[in-house]
Amino acid sequence: MKQTPPDQLLIGAHTSAAGGVHKALLEAQEIGATTCQLFTSNQKRWEGKPIDEEELARWQDTLAATGLQKIMSHDSYLINLGSPNEEGLHKSRAAFKEELKRCQLLGLSFLNFHPGAALDNSEEHCLETIVNSLEHLETLADKGSTRLLIETTAGQGSSVGHKFEHLGYIIDRLHKKIPIGVCIDTCHIFSAGYDIRTKEAWDETLKEFDEKVGLQHLYAFHVNDSMKPFGSRRDRHAPLGEGEIGMECFKVMMTHPKLREIPKYLETPDGPPLWVKEIALLRKFAKH
Ligand SMILES: [Zn+2]
Ligand SMILES: [Zn+2]
Repeated sequence: MKQTPPDQLLIGAHTSAAGGVHKALLEAQEIGATTCQLFTSNQKRWEGKPIDEEELARWQDTLAATGLQKIMSHDSYLINLGSPNEEGLHKSRAAFKEELKRCQLLGLSFLNFHPGAALDNSEEHCLETIVNSLEHLETLADKGSTRLLIETTAGQGSSVGHKFEHLGYIIDRLHKKIPIGVCIDTCHIFSAGYDIRTKEAWDETLKEFDEKVGLQHLYAFHVNDSMKPFGSRRDRHAPLGEGEIGMECFKVMMTHPKLREIPKYLETPDGPPLWVKEIALLRKFAKH
C-alpha cells in the first residue's frame, strides 16, 4: 500500500469552538493540524444551540479554505444512551438525535460518543439499552455522511465500553443497520488493561481487538498518554511521553501499517501550545 506523506496524515486535536464552530477549524490550522475534533454545542448543557445559516456558511467557507478533513464531533458529557432511568434516557436520546443532526448539517465524518453507564443496573442491560437507543436513529443516520463512533472507555464508575467485548456486542448488532464504528482512546484502553507500550504489546492488543470487534470497524484514535497506571480504570490524560504509557507507544502508532493511516485526534492537556509540538512530533515519527 502506498504510504501517505507525513505532512498529509490526518492528525489534529480537540480544538475550541468558542465564538462559532468555524473557530475550531481556524485553531486547528494554526497548530499544523490536518483534521480536528470539536463540540458542536455546549458539552455540559442539554439544550444545543441550533446552527443558523450564517454560521453554517462561515463553517463551509473556513472548511474549504483550511482543507481540513474527517472532522469529528464529540458528544455532550451528559448523554447516557444506556441509562436505566427513564427520564435520563429520554433526554439523552433527544439530545443525541439533535447532535447527529448538527453533525449531518456540518457534513462531519464522525460523531464520537461515550457508549453509556450502567449506573445501578447491569452491564448487559446497559449494552442492550445502548443498542436500542442507536436503533432509534436508523432512519436519520441513513440521511447523512456522519458515522457514529463508539469511544473506548477507561471503565471509570459504571461506564461500559472498557472491554472489547462490549464494543463487539454493539457493533455486531448494528453495523448492518447504521454507519457505526469505533474510536480507540489510547489513554482509556491502557487504563482499562490493554497494553500498548511496545510494538509487541500493540500487536497483541490489535489481535484481540480484531477477534472481538474486527479491525475493519476501527476508524479513529484519540491520542493521549495516561497519568494513571496500567489497568487502573481511571481516565486522566497526560502529554505524550509524560505519562504511564510512554513515547514508544506513539512511535509505533505512526509507523505500524495497521495504525499509521488512521485519523488521530489529540486530547492532551494544556491545549494549542502543546498540540503544535505533539502534532509535529507525530509527523516526525511517521517519517520512516
Ligand atoms: Zn477520548
Ligand atoms: Zn479520557
